[in-house]
Amino acid sequence: MALQLFNTLTRKVERFIPLDPAGRHVGMYCCGPTVHDFAHIGNFRTFVFTDLLRRYLEFRGLDVLHVMNITDVEDKIIKRVHQQQTTLKDYTGKYEAEFLKDFDALQCKRPHILPHATEHIPEIIALIEKLLARGIAYQAADGSVYFSIEKYRGCGCKYGQLVNLNFDGMRVGDRVASDEYEKESVADFALWKQRVPEDGTVFWRSPWGEGRPGWHIECSAMSIKHLGESFDLHLGGEDLMFPHHEDEIAQSEGALNLPAGRRFVEHWMHGSHLLVEGKKMSKSLGNFFTLRDLLAKGFSGREIRYLLLTAHYRAQFNFTLDGLAAARVALARIDECVGKLRELAGAASMPPGPELPLQFTKAMDDDLNVSAAWGAVFDWVTETNKKLAAGQLKGPQAAAALEAWKRVDEVFGLGSPPSDDVPPEVLALVEERQAARKAKDFKRSDVVRDQLKALGWVVEDTAKGPRVKRI
Ligand SMILES: [Zn+2]
Repeated sequence: MALQLFNTLTRKVERFIPLDPAGRHVGMYCCGPTVHDFAHIGNFRTFVFTDLLRRYLEFRGLDVLHVMNITDVEDKIIKRVHQQQTTLKDYTGKYEAEFLKDFDALQCKRPHILPHATEHIPEIIALIEKLLARGIAYQAADGSVYFSIEKYRGCGCKYGQLVNLNFDGMRVGDRVASDEYEKESVADFALWKQRVPEDGTVFWRSPWGEGRPGWHIECSAMSIKHLGESFDLHLGGEDLMFPHHEDEIAQSEGALNLPAGRRFVEHWMHGSHLLVEGKKMSKSLGNFFTLRDLLAKGFSGREIRYLLLTAHYRAQFNFTLDGLAAARVALARIDECVGKLRELAGAASMPPGPELPLQFTKAMDDDLNVSAAWGAVFDWVTETNKKLAAGQLKGPQAAAALEAWKRVDEVFGLGSPPSDDVPPEVLALVEERQAARKAKDFKRSDVVRDQLKALGWVVEDTAKGPRVKRI
């Protein structure tokens, strides 16, 4: 079966075919964090979903260029910078660093490019100039530049590709200046906002005077710059569908005047919302969790990642602390089985057993059906445990089973459990190897290295000395 993914544009599960004629390269853009505060677990559901998709495309042999922007100027940020009497860079730099720390803790692969909105002001201005030249944007009496929905529709373009909109209540020329607004107020939105006193020192020069970009145009400019005028995949949380993504399409397709049959983005995918303890997350209900809140409760990023990966990205998911405790038990079951295989396999190396990767691929090709994929994994754990208990596995079979799990885990990205519990015999061998290296007895140190390998461990020499980890 070929890979099928749901496309929000067509509201259908479709075969995924890259734009690259060779069928190899895939451009993928995900709306990144607005660095105005610590990201919460709902935000991270989207990023873990994005990571899962990227890893699965790579598993399927595709070469993914993953771009995730950092929104470092927008309404909420400006408000905080003003309140705290700080500079934009100091304020956003702190939250960006914290975001990336959380991102790493969840074992998400870093995107290849992390563009910042504030570093793309010339591209943003150029895009707005194109819209003005095509008559789709205009400067209003307040000095700001707006996108004209009427003019855009007049060009034969469709506003309302991702969501159905009702234009009956719309009055020509109604404008909205804020970055976030409701569907009821379909209206011309700001591309460039004229500087106001509350902006403080946050402003740039432009052909329309001092000001700053609107949020939506930032993503259009950054995605076009790094992925081209037409690219494969655009992801985000479902809350971004309107107005953010709808406006991105309008600005990009309005400015670019693409040839017939081409779209700004071929395939849009949206991750569903997260409930926490059965309710919408809110600070007043006490169910609002940042990643650090959960780490402080003693859960690991790996456990949180696992729990987020158990739900299908389009299904609403109820994230609970009980669920996290269950995730710990399920992970321990996998870890124990894999640990036994590792011990038995020792230094043996074999190609992966075909059955588990086959079942896994069948499940994931079906719009990332993780429930079926985990079903295949746990059936495999049960079967493997039975064989282990019956003494039916020898080194080579264990090695083949281990390789099969490793293939699947390239996508799930769970890796090995944190191993502060290095067995004493392994530590003793590490010391012996160090002593041999000090004495320049490299033959001996190689023998010890092989002994460690046979036990399933590998030593890495770092600037801080040797570090041992599971193979
Ligand atoms: Zn965006």
